[in-house]
Amino acid sequence: MNYYSLHKKAPNVTFRDAVLKGLAPDKGLYFPQSITPLPKVFFDNIHHLSNNEIAFEAIRQFVSPDISEDILKTIIEETLSFEFPVVELNKNTSTLELFHGPTMAFKDVGARFMARCLGYFNKSNTNQVTVLVATSGDTGAAVANGFLGVKGVNVVILYPSGKVSAIQEKQLTTLGQNISALEVEGTFDDCQAMVKAAFLDKDLTSKMQLTSANSINVARWLPQLFYFMFAYKTLKSKYKDIVFSVPSGNFGNVCAGIMAQQLGLPIKHFIASNNQNNVVARFLKTKIYDPKPSVQTISNAMDVGDPSNFIRIKEMYKNTFETLQNNVSCFSFSDDQTKAAMLEIYTSYGYVADPHGAVGYLGAKAYLQKFPKVHCVFLETAHPTKFLDVVQQVVKIKQHIPPQIQSVMGRNKVATCISTYKDFKAYLLK
Ligand SMILES: *Cc1c(COP(=O)(O)O)cnc(C)c1O
Repeated sequence: MNYYSLHKKAPNVTFRDAVLKGLAPDKGLYFPQSITPLPKVFFDNIHHLSNNEIAFEAIRQFVSPDISEDILKTIIEETLSFEFPVVELNKNTSTLELFHGPTMAFKDVGARFMARCLGYFNKSNTNQVTVLVATSGDTGAAVANGFLGVKGVNVVILYPSGKVSAIQEKQLTTLGQNISALEVEGTFDDCQAMVKAAFLDKDLTSKMQLTSANSINVARWLPQLFYFMFAYKTLKSKYKDIVFSVPSGNFGNVCAGIMAQQLGLPIKHFIASNNQNNVVARFLKTKIYDPKPSVQTISNAMDVGDPSNFIRIKEMYKNTFETLQNNVSCFSFSDDQTKAAMLEIYTSYGYVADPHGAVGYLGAKAYLQKFPKVHCVFLETAHPTKFLDVVQQVVKIKQHIPPQIQSVMGRNKVATCISTYKDFKAYLLK
């Protein structure tokens, strides 16, 4: 598969080069040149397939011929070595738990897949690749864990100081080896801007091979389409009209769901559920795209002012506003509404949701008021104990800490503080 830049001012590249480059030289995101839907029998028979078989069929066209079928099978097997359970709360609502991986957030799948692709591409190469990643919390953790010990790859994580949860910070800053953390005085958007600037900085790119591990990287973004297929496999015999509510920040996850739909997955509608960072919700109302600096919320992994992947969503709906509006609804909720939802989910269903999942639940509920017959699946994108303070404050029961989280809690933080792009550049060049 070849990939083109969505800014259309850079040459097309192979999957390998799209992964190694991250962002195209014209600053555009890469997008696959063609999308061939899977045959209808694939979806009719999906309940007979294992998760690994589904993933293999779904992503094969996007990685061939750079990754052979045998290698792809191994990468998928190593990536998907945990569960993706669907928990039904009532006949209209389920949650898809995406937090059973090593860092307990959905980004584990994309990060592990990408790390293995990059490790494979870099196997015979003696040059080091430096992966830059801006994080609002979970990306950095998943990438750090996914890339730990991968030969020939150094990872530099930028996170906004004081704006990630205590456990997230431990996950980012305590691994060592080929992983380093930069604590940035600023917001997530500042971190993301520094990473973007580095890719365009010839002083850096002439000396080092830089790539990104944010969902702008196709190897991080595309594997997320698996989730929607796994949930469909579980629910298809029971429910006809399935709608997904995706707690969204950079819009990579919902964009991967739309890719699954383009591949033929019968999804009726998408809900992009937002916190107060709601540029897309405003756009769908007014047709005016007016990004604002991000504001801090209790669902911090979605504190994104100008979501990178929205341009890919527009591309998939052929840049037609009406098509987008017919397929995607977007709702935005306050922290108070989110906390009230966490309490409601707990008291009504005995289920403890994290703040991001709770935003997804609210989106599902808002949609069900208009379309009460559908079945809404909200994605539970992180384990509640990653946001221990707010979860315990709201549901008021002591949370059991899973071993993945326990293992980082006692470790020592190692991070370098920076505040400007100049600091960042000097750090990379040293
Ligand atoms: C990253 C993240 C999101 C947002 O996903 P996007 O792909 O950026 O829209 C939601 N919830 C959690 C817990 C996350 O880590």
